[in-house]
Amino acid sequence: MTNYVVRGIDKTKSFRFFGANTTKLVDEATTKHQTSPVVSAALGRTLTGVAMMGQMNKNITDRVSILIKGDGPIGGIIVEANGFGDVKGYAYNPNVDIPLNEQGKLDVRNAIGNAVMTVSKDIGLREPYVGQIAMLSGEIAEDLTDYFAISEQTNSVVALGVLIDKDLSIKQSGGIIIQVLPDAQDEAITELESKLKTFTSLTNYLENNQCIEQIIEDLLGDVELMSKTDIRFKCDCSTERMERALISLGKQELTTIVEDDQEDLELVCHFCNEKYQFDKNDIGNILHTL
Ligand code: ZN
Repeated sequence: MTNYVVRGIDKTKSFRFFGANTTKLVDEATTKHQTSPVVSAALGRTLTGVAMMGQMNKNITDRVSILIKGDGPIGGIIVEANGFGDVKGYAYNPNVDIPLNEQGKLDVRNAIGNAVMTVSKDIGLREPYVGQIAMLSGEIAEDLTDYFAISEQTNSVVALGVLIDKDLSIKQSGGIIIQVLPDAQDEAITELESKLKTFTSLTNYLENNQCIEQIIEDLLGDVELMSKTDIRFKCDCSTERMERALISLGKQELTTIVEDDQEDLELVCHFCNEKYQFDKNDIGNILHTL
């Protein structure tokens, strides 16, 4: 089953929307990082949100990332995506176990703690565009709504849902972003608002195996699909990149590593847990190029 992001507008041209099915992508990420359930939920929601934001940029090579830094046990989450549909991400501490919240749900808010969310968009300029907000909710979807309102002056509805199975695999994962367009009709906004009153949580819909497109049509009526992009968990790390990381340590540090009686050097990519080994010969060769 492939994962995807759909993009489109409603018939009254009042809203644009993004919808994502991310079950496999989130399952792969949480398996690679061996996350506990509350981290799977937090990381999965962030991956789903950023996967959709990756389709909002003008150019396919543009990149968007979200950094969440909090004082809760997770510590932080970093997720990055591009227009091709490649999404990668990790949590600082993948293994957090805290009690369920008052509603009997995974307590993402307290796992993250008091936090700041930073959204960076690299659209090929010298400096990326950066927007930052304090996370008042901590449940991620509401915080993204705040981000769009404050940093992009766009009214949005954001819903993110990650359902975890008994064996800790991801049963369902998906998300919706609906944004009000400048020429939105008042009646269309009123109608959506009234429908949202009975919209409980996206997780409930996913639990009933409703597909994302259907949930969007339930909210917006007839829609026009403009694109459907396959998405996947994919990291762009490589031996060359890791060599560049080694070079950034500097000549002195690398010389110390070669001269010290240490074992081989192992670098691990945070985003995907891929391991890269460098023995003293490799490091010596890198030193020669400096
Ligand atoms: Zn990697």
